[in-house]
Amino acid sequence: MDLEQTKELYEFLKGEIPERFIFKTWKPKLSEDEAFTVIYVLQEKFHLIPDHFEQCKRCKEIFDMECEGKHYDDPGINLCEGCIDQIFYRESSQEADTPEKAIIEWYKVQSSCQNTEDP
Ligand SMILES: [Zn+2]
Repeated sequence: MDLEQTKELYEFLKGEIPERFIFKTWKPKLSEDEAFTVIYVLQEKFHLIPDHFEQCKRCKEIFDMECEGKHYDDPGINLCEGCIDQIFYRESSQEADTPEKAIIEWYKVQSSCQNTEDP
């Protein structure tokens, strides 16, 4: 499967039905993270999807890590090129002088926000 097909599958799992298909009884309605779990199994167990297609932690889109984006060991997340730029140039404070630092800072804020929403 190529990147476009993988993205289509991802949209389908989230509830977007492909053209020409009509499902009367049931259609999937997974969250972004749940949908990516299915893709992950197709990558790692069934080898139907290249394992360098990753989900961006910020925008949740699927992207090809061989062409763009980056894995950050600290805090252990994958981000697409667009989100790296966004975090570094628009959301980071002045103190963050490298994308790596900006991303660590952004992730801290992200995870603390989630904690307050979900006690
Ligand atoms: Zn992104």
